[in-house]
Amino acid sequence: MAYDLLVIGGGVNGCAIARDAAGRGLSVLLVEMGDLASATSSASTKLIHGGLRYLEQLEFRLVREALEERETMLAAAPHLVRPLKFVLPHERGLRPAALIRLGLFLYDHLARRTRLEGSHKVALEGTPFGAPLKGAYKTGFTYADCWVDDARLVVVYALAARELGAEICVRTRLVEARRLPDRWIARCEDEAGAREVEARAIANAAGPYVSQTLHDALRITSKKHARLVKGSHIVTRRLYEGEHAYILQNPDKRVIFAIPYEQELTLVGTTDVPFDGAPGPVEISAEEVAYLLAAINRCFAQSVAEADIVWSFSGLRPLFDDGAVQASVTTRDYAFDLDRAGAPALSIFGGKLTTARRLAEHALDELASAFPQAGPAWTQGATLPGGDIPDDGFEAFLTQFQRERPFLGERLARRLARAYGTRAEKLLGEATTMAALGRGFGCGLTQAELDYLVREEWVRSGEDALWRRSKLGLMLDERRRAEVNEEIDSLLRRHGPQDAARDDL
Ligand code: FAD
Repeated sequence: MAYDLLVIGGGVNGCAIARDAAGRGLSVLLVEMGDLASATSSASTKLIHGGLRYLEQLEFRLVREALEERETMLAAAPHLVRPLKFVLPHERGLRPAALIRLGLFLYDHLARRTRLEGSHKVALEGTPFGAPLKGAYKTGFTYADCWVDDARLVVVYALAARELGAEICVRTRLVEARRLPDRWIARCEDEAGAREVEARAIANAAGPYVSQTLHDALRITSKKHARLVKGSHIVTRRLYEGEHAYILQNPDKRVIFAIPYEQELTLVGTTDVPFDGAPGPVEISAEEVAYLLAAINRCFAQSVAEADIVWSFSGLRPLFDDGAVQASVTTRDYAFDLDRAGAPALSIFGGKLTTARRLAEHALDELASAFPQAGPAWTQGATLPGGDIPDDGFEAFLTQFQRERPFLGERLARRLARAYGTRAEKLLGEATTMAALGRGFGCGLTQAELDYLVREEWVRSGEDALWRRSKLGLMLDERRRAEVNEEIDSLLRRHGPQDAARDDL
């Protein structure tokens, strides 16, 4: 089978590139060796943000682009992306108030802002924002950014790509590729064995594996390198009331976020630890746990201990190595390496969830000379699957959804509307009772939802469904999780994976 573009990697960048390219009329194959978002793109802090702290590193281009993307993403996927208010407590001896005010002024004005509130100075003493904090914090600042379900964002990019004609193959590894003057011949492996495909160009969006893929699979020597930095989060019992998040200054000049998570929990992160090993799955270390707990306990009145941690996760940031001495000041901006010694190969270094759409646009610009037939940029202003919610916004959509499906109850209706947006209708079909959704697995997870996930969202295991398409793994006990595994195995046996792409390989 011959394609215009072969995309390596089903993280946020690979899926955004596949969507953009397919929408320009190119034939696209994306291969992901694990599950979609199984590497860095499900291990983030889940912010669609400008990155206030990057202003200190004078990353104005990146911050402006990211600030602009907040509003674009709010409009493209209002079910997955939502505004989040941050409280930044002021602390004597750390950043001076004047510096914070200057940073927030730039944050407010670097990019157009219509939906998100600007920043304010606020009193903390005797207020709900100050209530969970130690008494020493008298004043602070608030500003707005956005929160996103990172793993689901990747899936909606993949869905959009598939609906535009791209083939998305999960559990499919690019092993190696031979280069001819006008095309690549790539060997891909899945459970069924190895196959060869041809493509006129390759986009190497392998995240932490980008350098490895360049050298070992594509046999390209590049001057550009990825610098891997491990970042970990802990999830604790809920540490405070309210829907706002905290951005806490640490004496080492880093900042730590505390964010409301999955209704009853708090997400705390992140660390920044240089990583010299080979890319692969990583876990939080005892030192990182201690660091995050210490950061919270410095600022919060009620102390938090290891026993309060219910989950943790870690990922590798594939940063572009700009030669900075410290990991925490390595650029967060992305860089491309376009190799044209024959059919082109574009490698992507760095990037953020926030800017994946823009990165994809720039990637297609870079490849323009290889695809003179490709259409123009088109994704600015386009909605993502499930995001075609009328202008009244998510809450109005939810009210209407609940009215139409009263049998779901408030909690489940909210979860489904948040996760699937308007696509929840497809999952529910004609159902008017819970019984019509089939067997229940706890916390509102039903056979109908698992069936939808296998049919439509490339789910191949319980882990895909419970830890990436949803976070129900946090709520279901071991027995329930095993039942979900069995149900998915049985669905796969009965129907087979629905993305028929591998038959075409
Ligand atoms: P990945 O998501 O890692 O995807 C690459 C994929 O390629 C993987 O799934 C891998 O399996 C696949 N692959 C590799 N080799 C092959 C092969 N040979 N064949 C087939 N498939 C292959 N950004 C934000 O905007 N906001 C945040 O709040 C934020 N917080 C972060 C916090 C942490 C701790 C970290 C680590 C990152 C954070 N980021 C954040 C950055 C963001 O998460 C990453 O930039 C982004 O997820 C990288 O996406 P990617 O597609 O490049 O890589």
